[in-house]
Amino acid sequence: MYLCDDGHYEGMKFVRNCPACNLAKKISDQEDEKIRVIIDEFQTKKLEQALAERKAVRRPDKEKLQIYLVAVFGIEAPEMKTPKGKAAWEKIDAELEELNMRLGPIVEAL
Ligand SMILES: [Zn+2]
Repeated sequence: MYLCDDGHYEGMKFVRNCPACNLAKKISDQEDEKIRVIIDEFQTKKLEQALAERKAVRRPDKEKLQIYLVAVFGIEAPEMKTPKGKAAWEKIDAELEELNMRLGPIVEAL
């Protein structure tokens, strides 16, 4: 309800051609917008806080998995002596690289 002090307040009526009513409406709309922005910010903050808290709770597991993957994929490659051995290792290495790339996002998503 947008009420001016021009007597229209008594009738609880917004009068389209009344400048005071229009000013009251404008101010009221601006205040509604300010309140909406404040509520949005509040809700965003609450959501961000909740997400941060959830992440904090899960952090130990994430860190454990990161350490685990670094250890698994950090194992030193064996040295191959024959062309067949080298070819086999290259295939295995490529597969491991792909696996590593698939596992990374799973841990990062925690
Ligand atoms: Zn008015």
